[in-house]
Amino acid sequence: MNKARWTQLGLSALVWGPITIVVACGGDKDGELPPDDELQFEDFGTIPLSDTGGYVEATVTVPDGAVSTMAWCGGFGDGALGAVWTLTDPSGSVVYTGDAPDAGGFRSDFLDDLVPALIPVTPDLTPTPGAWTFQWFVGAGSTADPKCGAVHRVDTLSDPATIAVDLVFVSVAGLDATSAQSDEAFQAAIAQLESEWANAGLTPVFNYLDFSGDTAKYSVVDIVGDDYGEFNDLLRTSSPDIDRVITFFLVEEISSDGATILGLSGGPPGAAAVHGTSKSGVIVTTVDLQDEPTDVGKIMAHEGGHFLGLFHTTEMDGTRHDPLGDTPTCSDGDGNGIANSAECAGKGAENMMWWTLTEGVATATDDQSFVVRSNPVSD
Ligand SMILES: [Zn+2]
Repeated sequence: MNKARWTQLGLSALVWGPITIVVACGGDKDGELPPDDELQFEDFGTIPLSDTGGYVEATVTVPDGAVSTMAWCGGFGDGALGAVWTLTDPSGSVVYTGDAPDAGGFRSDFLDDLVPALIPVTPDLTPTPGAWTFQWFVGAGSTADPKCGAVHRVDTLSDPATIAVDLVFVSVAGLDATSAQSDEAFQAAIAQLESEWANAGLTPVFNYLDFSGDTAKYSVVDIVGDDYGEFNDLLRTSSPDIDRVITFFLVEEISSDGATILGLSGGPPGAAAVHGTSKSGVIVTTVDLQDEPTDVGKIMAHEGGHFLGLFHTTEMDGTRHDPLGDTPTCSDGDGNGIANSAECAGKGAENMMWWTLTEGVATATDDQSFVVRSNPVSD
């Protein structure tokens, strides 16, 4: 195989078919689903934006007992990029600014169309109760005024935490939501996902679903240049029955100008518990399922990590690292422009959020576990 292959962060889901709750293989407890009544939603409506871009601001009221908050603004168009520009806590302190994006306990990278802002993405900045001010910047090229909202999870943290996963079969070589439940390769992928997520304190509960949309259009998701429109459109089909779920769309391939992208997540972070948006899930390439089933499971674990608020421990070029204090870091030792797995052995190349595929069962740190267990969809 000479195709260039890489995992990539980026964006991020579906259609809900018959409800088949399948308890995770290996003896998951009761398979109880996260209750939606632990979430509180805020709707800020549409906030006007000029067509040359600009700032959008919302006051987000974090309730007592919140363990996580995800505020978002979006729908401004696939051709425009935005990011959180400032974040002000209830005491009036500016705790994040886009002028110094790696300085604090929060992170927001530029994303097209819709920008989720998740607290926490580190243990250093948690959603204390009160009025927070979120300000987003939206660049040129917007096609619509953004809608904005927030969701708060009022709960206690569990370890391990349960997470509901919708597996939406768009196009997976001969498999559908029924046959996949007994397919050896697919179950090997699921076992790999379970093993890696167990290291992050997550216990998934799966729901197998057949895609009810345009399978011919989405079996190969084409990304052309910077145009993620088809990717975004597939995620916009997400409409699960419950809010607290992460949706994985399983496609034949994500194709980008002749190369295969193994998986892409909305965000990071994804639009947790907010569905039908361009950031409402994860898309995974399954073309290698029969030959390399564990790789497919690894991709799911990694992209799910992005959705839940994790960044690469070290980016491909070795110059940027995640905002967590306990994750290993690595730089480009040989100066070839790439921090590869060999030169970063013991320095992050074993981690679930390493920028490319790992060997064996990927690891996760306590801080990473805290972030993913805190997410609004986890329980
Ligand atoms: Zn990645």
